[in-house]
Amino acid sequence: MSAATTPARHPTAEPLPPAGLTLMTSPPQRRADRLYHELLATQETQDVRAAVRAFAEKRVAPHAAAIAGGDERTDGFPRHVFDALAEEGILGIPLPADVGGHGLTHPATAAAAVIEELAYYSSSVAAIFDVQSVLVGNALNQGTDAQRKRWLPKVVDGTLVGAFATTEPDASSDLSPQAVQTVATRSEPGWVLNGHKCWISNAPVAGFVLVLARTGERLSMFIVDTGLPGVEVGVPDRKMGNRGQVTADVHFTDVELSDDALLGGVEGRGLRHALATLTYGRIAIAAAGVGMAQAAFDHTVAHLSTRRTFGRPVASNQHWQFLLADRATEIENARSLYTKAALRLDAGNPSPEPEAAMAKHYATRLSVDMARDAVQAFGGLGFARERGADGRPGPVEAIYRDSKIGEIYEGTNEIQKWSIARQIFGRDITG
Ligand SMILES: Cc1cc2nc3c(=O)[nH]c(=O)nc-3n(C[C@H](O)[C@H](O)[C@H](O)COP(=O)(O)OP(=O)(O)OC[C@H]3O[C@@H](n4cnc5c(N)ncnc54)[C@H](O)[C@@H]3O)c2cc1C
Repeated sequence: MSAATTPARHPTAEPLPPAGLTLMTSPPQRRADRLYHELLATQETQDVRAAVRAFAEKRVAPHAAAIAGGDERTDGFPRHVFDALAEEGILGIPLPADVGGHGLTHPATAAAAVIEELAYYSSSVAAIFDVQSVLVGNALNQGTDAQRKRWLPKVVDGTLVGAFATTEPDASSDLSPQAVQTVATRSEPGWVLNGHKCWISNAPVAGFVLVLARTGERLSMFIVDTGLPGVEVGVPDRKMGNRGQVTADVHFTDVELSDDALLGGVEGRGLRHALATLTYGRIAIAAAGVGMAQAAFDHTVAHLSTRRTFGRPVASNQHWQFLLADRATEIENARSLYTKAALRLDAGNPSPEPEAAMAKHYATRLSVDMARDAVQAFGGLGFARERGADGRPGPVEAIYRDSKIGEIYEGTNEIQKWSIARQIFGRDITG
């Protein structure tokens, strides 16, 4: 069976309940439109943002609460939303035209705007797009022409779900050849792969996985069809948040790979592929942080403006005015930072530091801080998923749960600060 027709290994989710049945309401008015003045992103990016915002309101928001409150093992991958992303052509936004993508002049900036707009409603859906189109798409785009032409059109049209696997039980922040224990050895027709990856997003439904493996003293990346003998995907993890981003372990036991499975066709370039991809990814995760922070902010402003205590709106207390003024400033900074990092990437700088690392740690911390503020501002309702008395949804608890992962994946925030510190003090001091 060809990779293109490899079936998903686990059943995908049943269609989710229609809008309004459960949990979270859509955020009220977009405050960003009044508070943020776009001076950095091109018109192309602004057009993409507007189109994806309209899509997200219509096709993501109705399912966002069910995805956020679901269970990875029973609800699974939100296939219908993924299919909608594909139908709308959104999966191709970061990719070149020769493989079915949009061929934009500023693909990274547009991709970041897509992520922010999706994360405004669903961090899980933003993460699915990130893995498929930013991580897998960008890594494959570094492949040979034959690899690009074979795999990328299926990534763009959604006929194949891809996964990107660097993390192992004992290697993630440290991706040195000494730490990575997944090994590919030369065989007569190609390679034999053995090892164990964990936390691999989309793995339970993936048709292929990009795998970082040791080849001799160095690292290489391989395109591995999940239908091959010896590939085993584990049971989905149950997580605190991002429950629509289904993760699992993947084991490789004597998996025979053909020569053309080596990404880029040259041995020893795996770390370069991985780091270039993860730099792109960290801009995307920063944008997801901004999307969640903006949603939590909008909910909070609406609630504090209408909820009354002691005969006045809660927002009449200067405590909340000052807090929201601080958060508005931080959201402005975070959006400008990720846009600047993306623009530098689009300008041909493969490692737009320190902006990418700054954007990632700043925006993801902000999203957690803003989500915690939102829970506090809503009082008891902030802590609720759904009120028993009237089925009234809890509007912000899922943002609190979902936002935390942004501080951890695609390079933890401590690693981002280490990377910035290197630029301050130099590697001789920081290591
Ligand atoms: C929902 C989810 C989805 C994921 N998706 C994927 C995926 O698709 N593909 C993939 O390959 N991986 C994926 N991951 C893995 C993720 O990227 C890692 O969990 C993350 O990089 C952190 O690695 P770790 O868990 O091994 O933590 P560790 O590397 O063990 O770090 C533990 C702690 O130590 C800190 N630390 C480590 N080194 C230093 C240092 N030098 N200085 C200071 N502090 C340090 C870290 O910042 C962290 O706080 C996913 C994880 C989750 C939870």
